[in-house]
Amino acid sequence: MRKLYASDDRFLLQSVRSELDARNIPYLVKNEFAGGAVGELPWQDTQQEIWVVDEQWFAKATAIVDGLMEPGVSPNSAQEWRCPRCREMNGAAFDYCWQCEEPRTGSHVQNS
Ligand SMILES: [Zn+2]
Repeated sequence: MRKLYASDDRFLLQSVRSELDARNIPYLVKNEFAGGAVGELPWQDTQQEIWVVDEQWFAKATAIVDGLMEPGVSPNSAQEWRCPRCREMNGAAFDYCWQCEEPRTGSHVQNS
């Protein structure tokens, strides 16, 4: 199990969880009910943490978080795109198809 993301921003956490849910990525939330204890606990303990249960999902889960945190990209208003290869719908923040890893456009295939 590996820690994916931690925040005290409930909106961001919910966005991440929604994306993980949509992709059927197994995860756990820690400190989900610790919010009432602010002032009693060190600040770290009031953050919620999202942990990816299975290591094999971690890279994709990280890509989700990166996509969501990208400035100016709203997961709700941005345009989704359909993979030309497998017809999977992908969020606008993603440059590669979730299903088959086909690049969003064929023009900039590269390793980073
Ligand atoms: Zn695809």
